[in-house]
Amino acid sequence: MDLLNTLVDKGLRRELPTREEALAVLATSDDELLDVVAAAGKVRRQWFGRRVKLNYLVNLKSGLCPEDCSYCSQRLGSKAEILKYTWLKPDDASKAAAAGVAGGAKRVCLVASGRGPTDKDVDRVSETISAIKEQNEGVEVCACLGLLSDGQAGRLRAAGADAYNHNLNTSEATYGDICTTHDFSDRVSTVQQAQAAGMSACSGLIAGMGESDADLVDVVFALRDLDADSVPVNFLIPFEGTPLAKEWNLTPQRALRILAMVRFVCPDVEVRLAGGREVHLRSLQPLALHLVNSIFLGDYLTSEGQAGKDDLAMIADAGFEVEGTDTTTLPEHRRQGCGEGACASEDAGEPADAAGEPAATVPAPSDDTRRDLVSVRRRGAGTDLPPNA
Ligand code: SF4
Repeated sequence: MDLLNTLVDKGLRRELPTREEALAVLATSDDELLDVVAAAGKVRRQWFGRRVKLNYLVNLKSGLCPEDCSYCSQRLGSKAEILKYTWLKPDDASKAAAAGVAGGAKRVCLVASGRGPTDKDVDRVSETISAIKEQNEGVEVCACLGLLSDGQAGRLRAAGADAYNHNLNTSEATYGDICTTHDFSDRVSTVQQAQAAGMSACSGLIAGMGESDADLVDVVFALRDLDADSVPVNFLIPFEGTPLAKEWNLTPQRALRILAMVRFVCPDVEVRLAGGREVHLRSLQPLALHLVNSIFLGDYLTSEGQAGKDDLAMIADAGFEVEGTDTTTLPEHRRQGCGEGACASEDAGEPADAAGEPAATVPAPSDDTRRDLVSVRRRGAGTDLPPNA
């Protein structure tokens, strides 16, 4: 297939595909799926070999958010029966993080619900970062606290945060459809503040919210333009009690095509398979390891993931290996300009192109028979039960 040969050549040279090529990946048929996975897998192996980086989520503060992101179980007015708690103490957060590190996680992602942190919140998180770094040698810490105000990125960096996560989630054109309390440019600005402060930028998307193929390509090109070092790809977990509870738009095959497209557009970036993989990829999860070089271990913020031991078994069975702390995640050419320490892993990139786009293709919604797959998290941080790591 000429398209795939072209995309492999471009991916090996770190050259940006055209929008038409990215859209064409999404438009491939199920008959072509294994060819698409094999082609994007060549690009993945060129830059990351067969390594899989494990990341572990700690929800520092859960629920009761004043923002109205429609996909989020923690949003204003959410009826989802999730755990709700305020800030975990630094020691408790560190204990939660240690469970993930013991399971093989190289990065701990400290997340808090809310529009953004107050300066006092930044103090709290700084203490938590110190506690985690003291108790877990070599671990990378990523903070995910929402929109940042002036000076907060620098303070988090000084406290030892290696990375900052703030997802763009969807295209600029459709951002207003999923959230009215902040906009796309607010999110871009926070990612840029994190980068300016010397943190590695982690920013990704959520697929399956009813967006078009053009929207998906738009957001991935925007992420490439932003030069995020890591790009988490979430598949919507349609929580009961949120406005998107009835959005079941993805098949396992489409989820794989989306991951392949992201790999072709961001060939040398840490592409992370994030929330919703169990729900939407289901038994095809191992195929996704040929496309992504990073996954979350165990549970998500407010929902259950596959058991951590099953994640490890899946990686081994598929012929991949867990990336150790002695290996730098990103390829050499992306490490320039980075500080010392665990995040010495990241930086640099290339501009995106912006051309016209073919007609959108939105898959027909499927029935809702798999709603049983969404389970609220009842263990780990904020509970007395041991975490799933
Ligand atoms: S700001 Fe964050 S926690 Fe709040 S509703 Fe949006 S995604 Fe959820």
